[in-house]
Amino acid sequence: MIRAYLDNNATTKPAPSVVAAMCEHLEHHYLNSSSAAGRVLLGHADPIAQAKRAIGRLLGSADIAEGIVITSGASEANSWAVFGATHGRTSGHLVASQVEHPSLRRAVDAARERGLDATSVAVDGNGRIDEESFRSALRPDTCLVSVMLANNETGVVQPVARLSRIVREVCPDAIIHCDATCGVGREPIDLDGSLEQVDLLSLSGHKFHGPKGIGALYIRPGIVMPAMIHGEQDEGLRGGTFNTPAAAGIAEAARLALERRASIANVALLRDELEAGILSLAPASRINGLGADRLANTSSVTIRGLDASAAVDSLAMSGICVATGSACSSGASSPSPVLLAMGLSYSDALSTLRFSLSSDTTREEIDLTIEAMHALLSSHEVRAAV
Ligand code: PMP
Repeated sequence: MIRAYLDNNATTKPAPSVVAAMCEHLEHHYLNSSSAAGRVLLGHADPIAQAKRAIGRLLGSADIAEGIVITSGASEANSWAVFGATHGRTSGHLVASQVEHPSLRRAVDAARERGLDATSVAVDGNGRIDEESFRSALRPDTCLVSVMLANNETGVVQPVARLSRIVREVCPDAIIHCDATCGVGREPIDLDGSLEQVDLLSLSGHKFHGPKGIGALYIRPGIVMPAMIHGEQDEGLRGGTFNTPAAAGIAEAARLALERRASIANVALLRDELEAGILSLAPASRINGLGADRLANTSSVTIRGLDASAAVDSLAMSGICVATGSACSSGASSPSPVLLAMGLSYSDALSTLRFSLSSDTTREEIDLTIEAMHALLSSHEVRAAV
């Protein structure tokens, strides 16, 4: 049984109204929205159009809906961004930070294998991209720059607007991509305002109480991208029968995320209480990224000597869900590249827990987690050497 769910950066619980919207769709509106009958009978209720408008509003304005293509999630959107922006090239240069999600880093590796050059920009001890290193990484042949909005392991928010302006000064024609997956619904995003220089942006429904297996890539008008999947839908950019039940779900999740943005201050309050509780149990602990802007919901805590992987298992046995690094790397015994990039030692990286809250998180869950941490830190099994 789940008693405290603090693993919201791995995935969030679908909101009841999201589940209801999906069930309603499956039962009553199952027509193929690309078929003639579907077009006539669904009309304005076309779930794909509705999802694009709702996502558009979450990203600044419903008007940007025309640039949104629904994908299977952010891994697909990130992969498409990289292969699309480098399509047809056998030379050229890419810039990405050292702390990007594996789906982005591996797409950059694949571009390298095709003959492109890539620079991985360092972060400082707080996990923030170093602006001088970033500027000097840019070259006249840089064709793609990719910077995430917020890190999934530490919650550290990158100054994407400022970095984008640097790109426009140094290599104005480079395509700018932002993996906003961890920031959507948690940070204000305005593609018509502060992020107006961003050309491509990735997101994923299951990070803001929507369903898994659906996300989007925003493609700014004027940016030419090759097809992700050949076919007829989405003007040939991504073929295949639309996943309309998931679209109905992500539309509702996007609406809800906008409505719930005001509750983020409460999430920060609970996160601060959790950190204070852990620091009182283990005063030598280190909160990673404390000196940077962080998402209100994320806390990455290094507890010297803790075997974090064993701790996560032990906490899960008592219904407390937390993580080591990212969901993708948990279970692996190798340390998180994100934490290593921030200068943590191997053993400190392996002694780091990630707690990620949501607007559903209650004070009771925080209290239960602190209690479980107390029991855990008193036991010898999960501590290598303190
Ligand atoms: N980028 C970031 C920052 C993420 O946190 C994740 C999810 N772990 C992804 C991309 C991949 O998202 P999806 O699960 O939708 O493929």
